Amino acid sequence: MTALDLPRLNIAELQTLLRQREVSPREVLEALRSRIAEVEPQIDAYLSIDFDDALKQAERTDVNLALGGVPIAIKDIISVAGQPCTCASKILQDYRALYDATVIRKLRAVGAIPFGKTNMDEFAMGSSTENSSVKLTRNPWDVSRVPGGSSGGSAAAVAADTAFGALGTDTGGSIRQPAALSGVVGVKPSYGRVSRFGLVAFASSLDQAGPLTKTVRDAAMVMNAIAGPDAQDSTCLNEAVPDYTADLGRDVRGIRLGLPKEYMIEGIDPQVRAAMEKAVAHFNSLGAEIIDVSLPHTEYAIASYYMIASAEASANLARFDGVRYGHRAENPRNVFDHYGRTREEGFGPEVKRRIILGTYVLSSGYYEAYYARAQKVRTLIRRDFAEAFQKVDALISPTSPVPAFPLGEKSSDPLQMYLADIFTNAANLAGICGISLPCGFARIENGTQLPVGLQLLGNALDEGRILQIAYAYEQSTDWHKQRPPMKRETSNARL
Ligand code: GLN
Repeated sequence: MTALDLPRLNIAELQTLLRQREVSPREVLEALRSRIAEVEPQIDAYLSIDFDDALKQAERTDVNLALGGVPIAIKDIISVAGQPCTCASKILQDYRALYDATVIRKLRAVGAIPFGKTNMDEFAMGSSTENSSVKLTRNPWDVSRVPGGSSGGSAAAVAADTAFGALGTDTGGSIRQPAALSGVVGVKPSYGRVSRFGLVAFASSLDQAGPLTKTVRDAAMVMNAIAGPDAQDSTCLNEAVPDYTADLGRDVRGIRLGLPKEYMIEGIDPQVRAAMEKAVAHFNSLGAEIIDVSLPHTEYAIASYYMIASAEASANLARFDGVRYGHRAENPRNVFDHYGRTREEGFGPEVKRRIILGTYVLSSGYYEAYYARAQKVRTLIRRDFAEAFQKVDALISPTSPVPAFPLGEKSSDPLQMYLADIFTNAANLAGICGISLPCGFARIENGTQLPVGLQLLGNALDEGRILQIAYAYEQSTDWHKQRPPMKRETSNARL
């Protein structure tokens, strides 16, 4: 194994080499640094990287800890003490976090090394990372396409082997959808499974942090590190954390997988549909029982999600007023001018759209018709899942109706972009858990292969089970072994 090969390893493989003292944490970081220098100009997954700090962490780490010496990339919405935390927004462009989020504290406690912050849609609002106010991130499988979003930088970094694993956040699909479009594994934990202390809030009844990794086992290892109660987050559940790697390797014979009939909509890309059907047949051959189920309120999920998420965002983003931190407009004429121009200059168009929409659905006269009704729909969606989970152990669907789309294709049409979440945002409304993992490829005209993601949804706190099912699929297929055919030269790979 040469230093050049190191970044291709997954976390479990890297850990073995570290523990056998075949490589040191410092050598791992140096190898990652070269890899990033080589391919980051094509991908632009990172907003900031601090190798000096990472090398200091590497000196102290103990490779016998659960993630000892493993560098992890962090979405720029999660506070890492002393590092920028911009949410890819102008309003926070000079802001540095004053403390570690609980997930970062927990990662450090098991020896992991947070070393860089990844690009994202501004304040996690989007499905393509094109809403970043800083730059576009490109899909490693095809640099003319989006990596998905909003955790697109995290997904692209893992896919491009410029991170061994990453953290993202998922409010309506932002871990699972970029994982699908970039060909990696992503887990959205159940609501309350992972602390949000130190995360910049988007929609507080929906947000969760979780891992993006190269394999299911790696995702389970990161979940082991970050899950669990936290006295600093009252929405975090006081439930013990099982060992998520414990059931990996158990077979899926007799497992009941539900196929929601409402998810087989028109408009699914035919190659996504074909990959999904093959995955279902594969599970059948592994001994799982496939059961048709119905989630009758599915068609209202997107409307309900965008009302609730925007309403909560409009309240959460009120704190960005340029008074205590963040961008501040110059020479305000009065206090109204100060607030008005600070926010006008600081927020991008999608964030403004959400704040306006959210303020509207919460305003008197419209509250009942929109926000309150969306909450009722949310209850119905939650009940749909509760009923389904009486009959099945997990649900199976595509993660995204389409593979990675070209940069610019949907960025001027917010509704088209919102439809990207059709299979993901109901899980956030219901508070259940989900995983996306690679299940095939869609081939486009020029022969380029684009990854397709399979989603498994599990009942609240059933992360162990969906990881077990995902692992059985992954280990009996070889989609996860395929890597993007990245070009070495940087010049002509750019648009
Ligand atoms: N695409 C969804 C949105 O724009 C989901 C975002 C997310 O999960 N953070 O709101």
